[in-house]
Order: sequence, then C-alpha cells, then structure tokens
Amino acid sequence: MSHLSIAIAGCGPAGLAAALLLHRHGHDVTLFERFDEPRPIGSGLMLQPSGLAVLDALDLAPQIIAHSAPIRALHGLSQHGDIALDARYADLGVGGACGLGIHRGSLFAILYCAVQAAGIAIETGFPIARSDLTDNGRTLVSTAGATTGPFDLVVDALGTSSPLAPPCGDWLAFGALWATLRWPDDAPFDPGLLTQRYRHAHEMAGVLPTGRRVDGEHRELAFFWSLKADDYPAWQAAGLGAWKEQVLALWPECACLLEQITDPAQLTFARYAHRQVPAPVQPRLIHIGDAWHSASPQLGQGANMALLDAYGLAKGLDSDGPLQGRLEHSANLRSGHVKLYQALTWAATPLYQSERVWHALLRDLILTPAGRIPPAPRIQARLVCGLVGDPLGRLGLAMADYAALLAPTQR
Ligand SMILES: Cc1cc2nc3c(=O)[nH]c(=O)nc-3n(C[C@H](O)[C@H](O)[C@H](O)COP(=O)(O)OP(=O)(O)OC[C@H]3O[C@@H](n4cnc5c(N)ncnc54)[C@H](O)[C@@H]3O)c2cc1C
Repeated sequence: MSHLSIAIAGCGPAGLAAALLLHRHGHDVTLFERFDEPRPIGSGLMLQPSGLAVLDALDLAPQIIAHSAPIRALHGLSQHGDIALDARYADLGVGGACGLGIHRGSLFAILYCAVQAAGIAIETGFPIARSDLTDNGRTLVSTAGATTGPFDLVVDALGTSSPLAPPCGDWLAFGALWATLRWPDDAPFDPGLLTQRYRHAHEMAGVLPTGRRVDGEHRELAFFWSLKADDYPAWQAAGLGAWKEQVLALWPECACLLEQITDPAQLTFARYAHRQVPAPVQPRLIHIGDAWHSASPQLGQGANMALLDAYGLAKGLDSDGPLQGRLEHSANLRSGHVKLYQALTWAATPLYQSERVWHALLRDLILTPAGRIPPAPRIQARLVCGLVGDPLGRLGLAMADYAALLAPTQR
C-alpha cells in the first residue's frame, strides 16, 4: 500500500475521525477548516452503537462515555397522551447497549484533542471555495484565492453545504430550534430517555440528556422545538413569551427549562436537508459524511454515518491497486447502508415533522402499536442503533463492549 498526501477539508466528526484513521494508516494528513478556532455549532446529538464502534476502534469510547448520557429508550407522547414513539435499546438483545446523548462540543473536543495529540497538521482560517485537479494532484483554493497543495487526495468533509460537492437534494420545510440547558436538580424528566411530545406532527418538543461536557461542571440537556423555516421570521417577531406559552400548552413540565431561556439568542435554528451526492468519488476526491449525504435527524444517524464513512475510507484505501479503484472500494463499503438509511429517514421524518394530520394518525394508531409486536421491537432497535444493513460487518468492526465501558459510571 502506498502512503498518500491527503488534504481533509472540514473539522467535523467526519473530517476529524478520517484524519485520525488515515494518520494511523501511515498517510500524510493535513486538516483544513474555515474557522480560526475550530469549533462545533449546535447543541446535542445521539451517538448510536454504529458510531460508537468507530470511536471505540479509535480508543476514544471511554472518554465519550464519561462526557455523555446513556439513553435506554426513545419515548414520545401525543397531545392526547398516546404513545407515539417507543424504541428501546434493550430490545437489541446486546447487554448494556444504549444510545449516548452528547453535546456536540464534547464529541468535537474529544476528537480534536486526539488529532492534536497525534501531531496531525491543522490549517485553520482557510474557508474553502473549490478544488482543482492538476497534472500532479489536487489543490484546495480558499475564498480569498489562496491555493494549497497539490495533494494525492482531497477528502471532502465540509458538511451539507460543501462547495466541493455538486448541488443536489432539497432543504426540508421543517427544522428546529435547539438550546443547551442545565439539567435542573429536580427535573421532571427521566435522565435515561430521549423524551418527545407531539401535537399531531406539526408541533414537537424534545429533551435529550447530554451528560457533563468536557470541562463542564453540570449535567446538561438539549431542548428542541420543531419549527418550519418559513415560520422562523414570525417566531422571531412574536418574541419569547408567545413561544413559551405554546410550548407549555403542549408540555407543561418544560416550565423549569423555559425559565432558563431569557434571550432568543440561546436558541439556534437548524435547517435540515435531504440530499445525496450521486457519485461520491471523483478523480482524487471523495465526499464523506454530510458532504456525501444528509437527512433530517429524526433517526439520529448523521454523525454516526459520518464516523462510519471515515472508517470505510481508511479501510478502502488500505488495499492495493490504483487510487481511484481504492476510493471506489471505500465508497462501496458504505453505499448500501447510506442508501438504506436515506430511504428510511425519508419515510420516518413526516411521522414527526409534517402538517398532515394523517401522518400522526398513522404513527399513533398503527405504526407505534405494531412496533411492540415481535419481532418488530428488535427490528426497531436495530434501526435506531444504525445497524440495519450490517454496516459494522461490512467494515470488519465490532460493537463496543457497553457493559465494560459503562461499569465505571455505575459504581
Ligand atoms: C439540529 C441537528 C441535530 C442533529 N442530531 C443528530 C443526532 O442526534 N445524531 C446524529 O448522528 N446526527 C445528528 N445530526 C446530524 C449531524 O450533526 C451531522 O450528520 C454531522 O455533524 C455530520 O458531520 P460532518 O463532519 O460530515 O459535517 P459537519 O459536522 O457539518 O462538519 C463540517 C465541518 O466543515 C467546516 N466547513 C464547512 N464549510 C467549510 C468551508 N467552505 N471551508 C472550510 N471549512 C468548512 C465546518 O466548519 C465544520 O467544521 C443533527 C444535525 C442537526 C443540524
């Protein structure tokens, strides 16, 4: 296997994990990031057994466990009190397996520290505009016109709006407001559940425990509120008071959370896109993570898919033959799982974010009750864990040993 000079564009989960893995495989890696100080944007996310398997292979699972909250089930109620979401990790039948609610900042800090400890070069303050193919490699060009390279390979890990990927897909009508809040001492929420409340499917609020951040003193949670992008200006104009009344009408227990929100700037509006670049491999260029495919976070898979893509890239490159063939092999290791979860997320999203009442009725009257009839619970658990389509087997990865990893936290 030849060792390559590789530029990785983007310091998100995909880029940082790819840098660590490719560096370990002996490649000469440089990371590029637009921010002067690399930083994550946003609030919490869920790490599934699929994503944790990659972090475990990077020997980072103990740190992740220490700075996250174990989630044993996803649980949602409709405005009538009907169970609208009930997915339990125990149904997977793997001892101790769970989801992990984590603040984006913690995932970023753990990966970034590992990158720094490995001595991987990072060029910050380099907003990428494009990449050019030359006679002897590929360059990256910044928005100010600075050129770097050429490199044997450019890895596009620039996320959903990557300028290196062709335009494709669409922005979804619904996004969500997200806030990071302190977990109240007497919180009326179960710390082991991702809990949601819905009014049909056009209103949704959620509480995701995210544990104690790296350098954090307190346990935290991510609070989210579904909102259409078109309605965001009206939300801003109406002010916090009107919004709080709407939230409390749906979920009165949120009062102890809403009192922590005193400024609209505490809430970040996130939009979701559903898109997939048709050809993830170009000459000396590969798209991974959200730059390749992105979807709404209803199944909580994006960061996990990004980590799996990074692993697939390192594995695919670690073979013989011409570079393009190895890149195609990398993409093939992942493409079946990517297509499957793009389709599943596309089907699941309107059940939780839609203006049509029949989506909610289908969810509450048919799908959720059917989900408790065997073998549906196990299938549902595999779906949420990111394991449908056997992505770990394709990559030669094993699930982390949750029982051993969680034992220190339970003493
Ligand atoms: C509100 C919300 C909730 C989510 N919840 C979950 C969840 O529960 N579970 C889950 O698995 N996923 C979740 N996701 C999805 C998840 O966040 C993404 O799938 C994941 O972050 C993708 O990682 P990435 O590294 O591919 O891209 P990103 O995280 O987007 O990272 C891209 C990086 O590239 C940098 N960059 C971008 N453009 C440029 C440029 N032109 N030049 C230089 N640098 C640039 C950015 O600054 C960033 O560092 C959620 C997403 C959102 C928005």
